[in-house]
Amino acid sequence: MSSTFYVLCVSHAPAILSTEHRTGGDAAETIKTGSDLHPGCDLVIEEVSGGPVEIGCPPASSRDAGPRCHHRDVEWVEVEWLRLLSRAYTSTDPKVADAVRQGRFTCWPQERLHRLRGSLGIEDEARERP
Ligand SMILES: [Zn+2]
Ligand SMILES: [Zn+2]
Repeated sequence: MSSTFYVLCVSHAPAILSTEHRTGGDAAETIKTGSDLHPGCDLVIEEVSGGPVEIGCPPASSRDAGPRCHHRDVEWVEVEWLRLLSRAYTSTDPKVADAVRQGRFTCWPQERLHRLRGSLGIEDEARERP
């Protein structure tokens, strides 16, 4: 199945769709050259193939806002993994909370994941556990 790539603005809660692309490189280039629709916003890329597959964090230098990451290319992460991390952030297990604190997931702070809850499929859970 072929993929579609969406630029999502995560400066809004929840994230809103900005543009649609046929390749991840095209989406990354659009972010780098500046989207007129979202000046000053934090943007990520969502790969969809049947459903959300991966989320890409564009280099900090190509975004106007968001985490100050150090990677120079788009950093892709599986949606399943982000879903797990999002749940870990809200875990009441002190060992899990500790592991998350020590992990330093620069690209994916809790608030950014929370705004991506539609893509991560955690909408209901977010409502149950504010
Ligand atoms: Zn925006
Ligand atoms: Zn990053």
